[in-house]
Amino acid sequence: MKKLFILSLLFTILIGCSEEDYLVENESLSQNDSVLKTLKNWGFSDDQIEDKGTYYLVDGDMVFYKNKKYHAPKKSNTKQREHPNSVSINNINVFINPNMNLNWRNASISAIGRWNAVSSGLFLNITTTTANAHIQIMYDSQDPSVNLASNVFGRGTFPTTNGLPGVRIWVNPDFNACSGAITQNMRISNVQHELGHNLGIMHTNQSSAILIPGTPSSDAQSVMNGGKACSINNFSAGDFLAIKYLFPPLTLAGSSLICNTSTVTYNVGSSTIPINWTTSSNLQILSSSNSSITVRPVNSSFNGTGFIQAALPSHTVRRNIWVGEAVVDMIEFENGIGEIGYYCSSHTGNTYSIFPRLSGTTHQIRLRRYPNLSIVYSPSTNYSGDSGTLNYTPTPGWYLFEVKRTNSCGIAEWFGTEVEFVDCSNGGGGGEEF
Ligand SMILES: [Zn+2]
Repeated sequence: MKKLFILSLLFTILIGCSEEDYLVENESLSQNDSVLKTLKNWGFSDDQIEDKGTYYLVDGDMVFYKNKKYHAPKKSNTKQREHPNSVSINNINVFINPNMNLNWRNASISAIGRWNAVSSGLFLNITTTTANAHIQIMYDSQDPSVNLASNVFGRGTFPTTNGLPGVRIWVNPDFNACSGAITQNMRISNVQHELGHNLGIMHTNQSSAILIPGTPSSDAQSVMNGGKACSINNFSAGDFLAIKYLFPPLTLAGSSLICNTSTVTYNVGSSTIPINWTTSSNLQILSSSNSSITVRPVNSSFNGTGFIQAALPSHTVRRNIWVGEAVVDMIEFENGIGEIGYYCSSHTGNTYSIFPRLSGTTHQIRLRRYPNLSIVYSPSTNYSGDSGTLNYTPTPGWYLFEVKRTNSCGIAEWFGTEVEFVDCSNGGGGGEEF
């Protein structure tokens, strides 16, 4: 288990319980105790928790305010069934304090770019106003309540139970604790790291809290390692896994098939990320929003492939679909002894495959004999799937093998392809050279 963690959980329980009761209980105790208790429940030891008056500083650079509420640790046996992250919005506005110098402003922009390059379900948008900012990045000296020591590169704020990211990131332009000079990559990587805290991720190299499934048990390359301000460098493969687990990439949910006269809606779930929608030319957009699109075929007689595409600011999600009846483009034969292109007339169990591959289809087959195309075999069976076995042994010669496909939009026309049945009894494929 890797220790990129999120404080999620018990989301439904917190909502389900009376919030008032919770607050009353807090008042009768002390709010300090409540946050401290939560931190201890996550597994932090006393030496990892520093009391800073109005907040606790955890593991060196994570701020937990005493007057805020934080999610309790989730139960490990239920974690995969719960909403995995404590940040429940996905379009996050970040304000970069314009009074930081160019290096730090650029580092903040680059760090945001690295987060967006993960192609997770999050989008970090740079905003130029504090009014709509979810996260503000600033020097410690720009906040009277904070003063970072020269060996602290940055500090983040953990998200509370309100579903929003932690509100502030402080960086230290006077940091001087690395053996060499401070590089721009160090600035970028440390803002990247603090953004992780504000989005609910803890230190990879911690022993407490909840591990993210599928990530390594330790990860020296993780940008979320704590106490590594001089050496962290961009996301590791494990970081990518963890971020996509916590913030799953958007998907387009909806039917993989649109019938010619029907209207279908595709959903990306609850999203506030702006989306630029496009479709294949055989579809028209009836309506769209940041969370869904409704389309219908342009032409009532078109049968074939189509797509719906959602271009997000950071990446593109595409859904390939089928429009209309299940036509056939190609039939491939296999004669049962490994050769393609003909059937052995004496061999039962010759197989065929129908292309394109389409789910949810059935088909009928028939065989017509050249030169007059008389039907010699025409089972009434409706076979499911897009391949089958020809249980028929004709005399050698040329035939037209035909397939008629059905999907929930209707029944397509017969599609035929020529096939030769050869006498394979001499072992040579009927005189053909292979
Ligand atoms: Zn940290």
